[in-house]
Amino acid sequence: MSNETHIRQLRRALKLASDNARSGTGGPFGAVIAACDEIVAEGVNRVTSELDPTAHAEVCAIREACRKLGRFSLHSVLKLRALPDVPQRDLLGAP
Ligand SMILES: [Zn+2]
Repeated sequence: MSNETHIRQLRRALKLASDNARSGTGGPFGAVIAACDEIVAEGVNRVTSELDPTAHAEVCAIREACRKLGRFSLHSVLKLRALPDVPQRDLLGAP
């Protein structure tokens, strides 16, 4: 995965988090799951709106990915990557 692709995906997660907090749906948390450079699922925090202590953004994204891919495990289809050392201003697009 190129650094640009990774940054684009992280920006999407940040946008989901920001929009979720602004809408009042949940906390400022967003997550994306990517496979082969493509985002296959997204999630936002819905703990308070759904009264579900397990509805963390990453859990919601995992649930959506499993539904979309028709499997109960993402182990064989996804690779986890460490967050590169990217300055926060680059992720947020700030000057
Ligand atoms: Zn969590």
